[in-house]
Amino acid sequence: MNQSVLDTPIAYLKGVGPQRAEILKKEIAVFSYRDLLSYYPFRYIDRTQFYKIKDVNADLPYIQILVRLRSLEVIGEKRTKRLVAQAIDDTGEIELVWFQGITWVQKNLALNQVYIIFGKVTFFNGKAQMAHPEIEVYNKNALNRGNLKLQPVYSSTEKLKQYSLDAKGIQKITANALDVCLQDIEEVLPLYITQKYKLLARAKAIYNIHFPANADDLRAAQNTLKFEELFLIQFRMLKSKMIRTQKFKGNVFENVGDKFNYFYEHLLPFSLTNAQKRVIKEIRMDTQKGIQMNRLVQGDVGSGKTVVALMTMLLAVDNGYQACLMAPTEILATQHYHSLKELLKDEFVSIALLTGSSKTKQRRIIAEDLESGKLSILIGTHALIEDPVKFKNLGFAVIDEQHRFGVEQRAKLWRKNVIPPHILVMTATPIPRTLAMTLYGDLDVSMIDELPAGRKPIETRHLYESQRLRMFGFMKQEIAKGRQIYIVYPLIQESAKLDLKNLMDGVDTMSREFPLPEYRISIVHGQLKAKEKEFEMQRFVKGETQIMVATTVIEVGVNVPNASVMIIENAERFGLSQLHQLRGRVGRGAEQSYCILMSGDKLSKDGRVRLETMVKSNDGFEIAEIDLQLRGPGNIEGKQQSGVMELKLADLTTDQNILAEARKTVIEIFETDPDLAKPENQVLKAILLKSETGIMLNKIS
Ligand code: ADP
Ligand code: MG
Repeated sequence: MNQSVLDTPIAYLKGVGPQRAEILKKEIAVFSYRDLLSYYPFRYIDRTQFYKIKDVNADLPYIQILVRLRSLEVIGEKRTKRLVAQAIDDTGEIELVWFQGITWVQKNLALNQVYIIFGKVTFFNGKAQMAHPEIEVYNKNALNRGNLKLQPVYSSTEKLKQYSLDAKGIQKITANALDVCLQDIEEVLPLYITQKYKLLARAKAIYNIHFPANADDLRAAQNTLKFEELFLIQFRMLKSKMIRTQKFKGNVFENVGDKFNYFYEHLLPFSLTNAQKRVIKEIRMDTQKGIQMNRLVQGDVGSGKTVVALMTMLLAVDNGYQACLMAPTEILATQHYHSLKELLKDEFVSIALLTGSSKTKQRRIIAEDLESGKLSILIGTHALIEDPVKFKNLGFAVIDEQHRFGVEQRAKLWRKNVIPPHILVMTATPIPRTLAMTLYGDLDVSMIDELPAGRKPIETRHLYESQRLRMFGFMKQEIAKGRQIYIVYPLIQESAKLDLKNLMDGVDTMSREFPLPEYRISIVHGQLKAKEKEFEMQRFVKGETQIMVATTVIEVGVNVPNASVMIIENAERFGLSQLHQLRGRVGRGAEQSYCILMSGDKLSKDGRVRLETMVKSNDGFEIAEIDLQLRGPGNIEGKQQSGVMELKLADLTTDQNILAEARKTVIEIFETDPDLAKPENQVLKAILLKSETGIMLNKIS
């Protein structure tokens, strides 16, 4: 291999040396010139102009202002202690504030001196303010030398700063690196692609992302590098999918046999929706091909995914294979077990439940029956993929509410059989299309986009704390009609104690308002033992209690059709997708169902939007899109586990178009040149061989 200058160890770079090299490695994983060049600025200061104080507003990015210091004083005590400076130009006044490093700043600033301040302007009591501005003595010569551009700002750390590698220091060494290796930066994308999408040459893009001459250059550079980033993710993902489908044989489910047919004709208590039929058919097609299936089924809460799981598991059983269904919580696994047993009536299929709290003896029996093949369907939590669990021949695995299972765990399942089982992932947390492409781009997707007939849309109301009495009145009215009610309290992991107290206070209030013997209340929360939880759940399921007070443990999957009211306390503390999940616990029977969102009287802007969205929409996909807009993709559940989301530049909320183009391009390449044999695609082939995917695939081939 010819070594590129870009791979030179960072210690050799002018301005670095061995000591700083160590720190760069440890703090920001920069080992080589190449790494440094892909350590992009996180923002830019517009040094092309000075703003006048009268013209500033809170919407501006980081800007610079030329000011004179008029006063400087420390105010406040201890925790409120801060350094405040009044600064002026010929149009107005701005306040500068420091909460940290006060002594140092104070020592280094002089009254009546002229400074350039950089930062983001905020307004406080109608006054312009800049907190922790960067500050520089005004010096005409310095300005000329810096020739007024967009100045890159890099994130730094305390350690780096100790070694003079603050934002400015990083900027300096980056400039040094560009000096010596700009001409060595190789193209990553084939020329025909960069031309088609009017992208910059890579060297130019890298230069301009660090030192753009103006906003247009910056935008072009970002566009190029975002495209590259998203392209490479899609490229690796689709390639590994291709290889997987070529290399891994799949079990063939040839027959639709007795059990499937018997269930369909005699036991199924309703007729399937068209969407359910279609998805079952898609799965049947997949499992006949001799290729291992990896399919994601998305369906809004209540769309009837469980029965799809059951029928496709029966398909596996009919073909002589075992199947398993994995759920994220014990409650949910247990509930699945009971509802499947109920659907299957006289146990013409053997089915068992395995969770963390299964007894040793029971475990042993399950283990034996699994190995001998006596047991056909195993339901459980992740206990099910723990190593000792051995199947005779696992052919089909269903994973419910997948966002709680990581890629790791999926892989564990694969290893449960010589020929990896077909995998069906079911999720009710609708993932916006773009995100699904990125997160699950290697899965095939089925949609259950239809609710069973006769469902009435859930009516959602938002009530303030001051309207609590109305809520009680409404609850009594519904209970009198024979309905059951959930009341959910938020759960914040950091403070389980406080949450429990919250819940218990709630229970107290409820018990006073809904006294025995007329009313009965179930309580379920995370601190209960599995047995107790199960007991409380069952009382509610059987209709022995009318009210279920719970934390979010009931969020996913729980199914009690007679429960028609969902009350969510402190609803403003929940995320949108969680609210939608919770609401999905009702509206499962024939009755009109209601969701009541209780909130404090004061709401943040985001909180208000979330609650308004819930009142307005019942559509999980629409809600997920709004959620994505509000929170940004960084917070979407499942992201952390995906392992493919360390996006450096691209932002899935704003760069959906680039993602779509990148994906389309990748698909075209694989369609026209699946083996990457064409000369123009050799760059891509090289990337693949170097990548982890390549290494992984070489190992298994
Ligand atoms: P989810 O997709 O949220 O997991 P479930 O599978 O729990 O939904 O189904 C919700 C409820 O709808 C269950 O009570 C189930 O028995 C019922 N159900 C499922 N499919 C149909 C159908 N085609 N017609 C009527 N009811 C159905
Ligand atoms: Mg479900």
